[in-house]
Amino acid sequence: MIDQTNDLKLKSVETIIERACQGQDLSEAEGLILLQQKHPEAIATIARAADSLRKKQAGDTVTYVINRNINFTNICEQHCNFCAFRRDAGDTGAFWLDLEQILAKATEAIALGATEICMQGGLNPQAKLNGASLPYYLRLVETIKSQFPRLHLHAFSPQEVQFIAREDEISYEEVIIALKQAGVESMPGTAAEILDDRVRKVICPEKINTATWLEIVETAHRLGVPTTSTILCGHIEIPQQQIGHLAKLRSLQQLAIERDYPAKITEFIILPFVGQEAPKPLRNRVGRDQPSLADTLHLTAVARLFLGNYIANHQPSWVKLGLDGAKEALQWGCNDLGGTLMEEHITTMAGARGGTSMDVEILQQAIASVGRPYRQRNTLYEYLPA
Ligand code: SF4
Repeated sequence: MIDQTNDLKLKSVETIIERACQGQDLSEAEGLILLQQKHPEAIATIARAADSLRKKQAGDTVTYVINRNINFTNICEQHCNFCAFRRDAGDTGAFWLDLEQILAKATEAIALGATEICMQGGLNPQAKLNGASLPYYLRLVETIKSQFPRLHLHAFSPQEVQFIAREDEISYEEVIIALKQAGVESMPGTAAEILDDRVRKVICPEKINTATWLEIVETAHRLGVPTTSTILCGHIEIPQQQIGHLAKLRSLQQLAIERDYPAKITEFIILPFVGQEAPKPLRNRVGRDQPSLADTLHLTAVARLFLGNYIANHQPSWVKLGLDGAKEALQWGCNDLGGTLMEEHITTMAGARGGTSMDVEILQQAIASVGRPYRQRNTLYEYLPA
């Protein structure tokens, strides 16, 4: 039995959901109402709506990609308060791969059927060629592409683009054009964290601000480089900031559509905060070592209702939620299970329990176990021959 207040709340939730299911865009206020629901019946209604909208917008097939992560260094000049990955040069656990090691990893990936290398690293001021950053990054890209021209290179976050531009005193546009010409085909939409400068000042005070993140991603779209989009949730942010973040991503995609940019956002990935090995102040403030699955699923469903008209592909993180949690997210609006990764350092060093590598067969079985068909895709969400 729900009381009268709950009954009223449920009615307003139902009205909002009806609008979303009719294909209308939700306002931030409506998204917030959905996100603030606490009653299990209301949350179940939101989940059902997200699942049915997923079916309409992305179909029943759940996709996955065979990819390999390569983090070429964890030496980083910044000190994000959620990051257990970074090291100073010379610290125990600091690493910086040379070109031979990177090529060996790419060779292994190819042997395992990879179509994509996802490459990101710390902001290492020593990573230069002839005193400049850009030539170092171009060398990384050209080395991989010269050996494996058909591997899709999904590389370098907006933060890395800004780092290169700042180090070399050149524009974001010059950096992106040069990376694209060298062989970068898409860019991870990481470093977004929460696109709200009040939150960024606390969790990543040295990182690019919201406006710069949006500017760099828009520049990539304008120059024909597709990006993903992400949210780092479940730390100090409040629901208003989560919805504000989704609204900024939606506006960015609307802009790319309105201006007919040659590239857009390909997917939305929910990354819940893992605090276990994170620096103590933030970890203590959050008061939780592992993500809350319930909160993550709730946000997953609201993201489908809020963003689905513009970003059809939604992906949970099996590294952060574990495979069982990610499987559950497939019933809350997700249509993709991500990649095999083959290795994962950033979240695993933070204490994530989901693992660092996933066999294709295990991903396929996980998808089949929720009664959905599976299909291998490439980075740009095109199906690959079965
Ligand atoms: S999150 Fe990235 S930029 Fe921040 S400290 Fe870690 S490696 Fe450096």
